[in-house]
Amino acid sequence: MTLLALERLTVALPAGADRPHALVDVSLTLDAGEILCVVGESGSGKSITATTIMGLMAPGVRVAAGRVMFEGTDLARLPAEALPRLRGPRIAMVFQEPMTALNPLMMVGDQLAEMWRTHTDLPARDIAARARAALAEVALPDPDGALRAYPHELSGGQRQRVMIAMALALEPALLICDEPTTALDVTTQAQILRLIRELQSRRGTAVLFITHDFGVVAEIADRVIVMQQGLVVEQGAAAQVLGAPAHDYTRRLLAAVPRLTAPAPRAISAEPVLEITGLSKTYRPAGLFRRRRETRALDGVTLTLRRGATLGVVGESGSGKSTLARCAVGLLPFDAGTIRIEGRPLPGARQAAAHCVQMVFQDPYASLNPRRRVGDQVAQRPIAAGTGRDAARAQAAELFALVGLDPAALVRFPHEFSGGQRQRIGIARALALRPKLIVCDEPVSALDVSIQAQVINLLDDLQEEFDLTYVFIAHDLSVVRHISDRVAVMYLGKIVEVGDRVSLYEHPMHPYTHALLSAVPVPDPDKEHARERILLTGDVPSPLNPPPACRFHTRCWKAQSLCTQVEPPLVEVQPGHEVACHFPEERVIV
Ligand code: SF4
Repeated sequence: MTLLALERLTVALPAGADRPHALVDVSLTLDAGEILCVVGESGSGKSITATTIMGLMAPGVRVAAGRVMFEGTDLARLPAEALPRLRGPRIAMVFQEPMTALNPLMMVGDQLAEMWRTHTDLPARDIAARARAALAEVALPDPDGALRAYPHELSGGQRQRVMIAMALALEPALLICDEPTTALDVTTQAQILRLIRELQSRRGTAVLFITHDFGVVAEIADRVIVMQQGLVVEQGAAAQVLGAPAHDYTRRLLAAVPRLTAPAPRAISAEPVLEITGLSKTYRPAGLFRRRRETRALDGVTLTLRRGATLGVVGESGSGKSTLARCAVGLLPFDAGTIRIEGRPLPGARQAAAHCVQMVFQDPYASLNPRRRVGDQVAQRPIAAGTGRDAARAQAAELFALVGLDPAALVRFPHEFSGGQRQRIGIARALALRPKLIVCDEPVSALDVSIQAQVINLLDDLQEEFDLTYVFIAHDLSVVRHISDRVAVMYLGKIVEVGDRVSLYEHPMHPYTHALLSAVPVPDPDKEHARERILLTGDVPSPLNPPPACRFHTRCWKAQSLCTQVEPPLVEVQPGHEVACHFPEERVIV
């Protein structure tokens, strides 16, 4: 039975927008009990589709033509006061970032209870029982504790479970999920996707699931709609669209998705560029927060990286990846251990040669000054290092051409560029001092998949041309596999496994690596449904209070009493492949 039908829907943008319409002639249907994925890149119109159904469009955005038929009623023509009565009881939505959708000043239990207080006449005692049952249903580990918690006291995955519990509280017929797992780690994403699937099949809810990730589509969708610049370009069963895409745009998007496969290994020089030994870093609270506990972000990290190679670093939030990156470029002081770049210890190496190591950040917009022309920003560091202004500007123009930007654009400001172009500017700026080592901290995670592929290819080409050495930090294991020669897996401030990419991806030995790799969604529904999944339970423990001995033992299905008493050292189990586990075991992850 058709629950939702968009009929030739056209949505107009306010005057002054970069185009007149966000959606043009969009038609789709969603049946009761079905999961329909809407997929596309930024600007494709997928989120505006969701907000139009919910009646939550931004000011100035309006339905110009067509109908939004839900249970036989055209939502686009309902009086303004009628829509809020549908939101919650009949249609509910889960957003990408639950922290912005939850009230930070209200306990979770009160926010959940408000759903029933607003829409039902249930007595307070029944509401309390339902709130607790709702949190138990979404598998929150301690529902009673969560009812009394404020949103900031929960992890990102737990907050998203609370949002799902709130969305499903009144048993709506339609659940709209707008990129609900994009901000989550891959292991938490796998838990949330399974939860949505289970709840959907148990309750028969129809789900409109918006994503940019074809791996997620393969895992969850019954049918798929592909959107490009406000138009539906393809739709069909998930297996058909992913297996035999008919439209050129879908084919290009799928071709750009990095897979858990990789190019052939390269020959690497034996000369070390980066040597990290026994590196430890503790964040000590100060000022108002001095009563809080210390966070041991890095604990005895040892790594070597050879000239011209790329070391990928993966792990969940709180694993210490970004702290490692900032210590390696000299942006953060560390407490113990040594970092040597081309044999010279930091921070002396950095002072002696400011150019030896540079960094590319996740959000180039935040790292660029919005009020300065980009050309001045690329030339700034060479000028500070003694290069003449004219020579630095000429070099900036060369760098722009090198990273695929028009040198004429040097006079523009950061907001005049797209996200992918700004990341190219970030790379040009990092290259300006001709560094030996570049630390890239999640450099492509904010970009659309086709732009990601362009930036990764650019980094590959620049490495070849300038014999650059990279540390590449990312949570996307497929991207890391594509670009890295060696890969280090981090968990709660420690390296638990490190090896060359073939050995680590094809013969992983540590249970945490097994779980990480098996959580990566594969954009092929047949493979996705056939493969064995290792679903980790629970969240990463707090780095404020890490478990003793093996830090992974609270989530490890192989843990034995030894694991809770003795910390496993990082030992070489095969040439170049080191693992920190008392019971390492090779496992093939499909
Ligand atoms: Fe699991 Fe024990 Fe190995 Fe830790 S040492 S990863 S708990 S088997």
